[in-house]
Amino acid sequence: MPAKPKIGFIGLGIMGKPMARNLMKAGYQLVVFDVRAEPVEELVTDGAARGESSKDVAAKSEVVITMLPDGPDVERAVLGPDGVLEGAKRGSTVVDMSSISPLVAQKVGAECAKKGVEFLDAPVSGGEPGAINATLAIMVGGKKEVFQKVEPILKVMGSSVTLTGDVGAGNYTKLANQIMVACNIAAMGEALVLATKAGLDPEVVFNAVKGGLAGSAVLNAKAPMVISRNFKPGFRIRLHQKDLRNTLLAAEALKVPLPLTALVQQILEALMNDGKGDWDHSGIVTFIEQMAKIEVKKKG
Ligand code: NAD
Repeated sequence: MPAKPKIGFIGLGIMGKPMARNLMKAGYQLVVFDVRAEPVEELVTDGAARGESSKDVAAKSEVVITMLPDGPDVERAVLGPDGVLEGAKRGSTVVDMSSISPLVAQKVGAECAKKGVEFLDAPVSGGEPGAINATLAIMVGGKKEVFQKVEPILKVMGSSVTLTGDVGAGNYTKLANQIMVACNIAAMGEALVLATKAGLDPEVVFNAVKGGLAGSAVLNAKAPMVISRNFKPGFRIRLHQKDLRNTLLAAEALKVPLPLTALVQQILEALMNDGKGDWDHSGIVTFIEQMAKIEVKKKG
């Protein structure tokens, strides 16, 4: 592979567009495609080449990165008509950075292998700020030698890049991450609702506990949002619901009961029915507030 291989980038949404920009800033030549014309135009203006389809992008690159909403979108873009595998050269590499079911990642990886195309699953954590500032945590699954070839590319987009196992391991790691974040937010919601109902100021409670064992990155990021009633995403409730759905499907295949995850997934589903799918996931607290008939906000 050349020192700076040509990179195809498919999926230029909240995350993909800034990630593609960072690769261009680092001197990589990009061919880009999205089903929406607008972000493609923006990146072409910045110097990227326009891909006409996922197939076209793959035919013009050595490494193809996909950053799409969910597994069915990745299957469509990679395996479908006019998809990556119709254009990809033998020996090229597909890196899917979307958060999808590990089972779908393994299926896509197996189809790539049949065509002599390498595959890694490499989902990320860190949100839009991490994508813009190139500080994403990237969790990778696949063969070590393939990982080592694309590691310099991944390091342009993230500050932590870890090989966690074979294909699918990246997404199992991401699902583990999403369980911990979701259950943490729900526990924080119950704690703040109880304290508020008892007549305490939730901000005082937050400041009192954050340095102790209950302190966490989730608490520090999300409690101030709840207390100031700011539910602008961040990370959307509908995306977290999708991640927990994928978690439960993977857990069922492994016969692992996940009672806490199942409960929070149902809360997220109810919140989507309540029109809150595009709220930040800190909005989980509003489900608990409704049951207690109280709102967590600063006293006075
Ligand atoms: P997004 O909806 O903003 O972007 C997805 C993009 O893919 C859109 O531009 C859409 O037009 C495009 N697209 C969909 N199907 C396509 C296809 N077949 N071919 C080409 N383009 C297609 O989503 P996002 O927030 O950028 O998230 C992308 C992935 O990253 C998701 O799996 C999400 O769970 C994960 N993620 C998001 C965040 C976050 O904070 N937003 C954080 C970590 C991980």
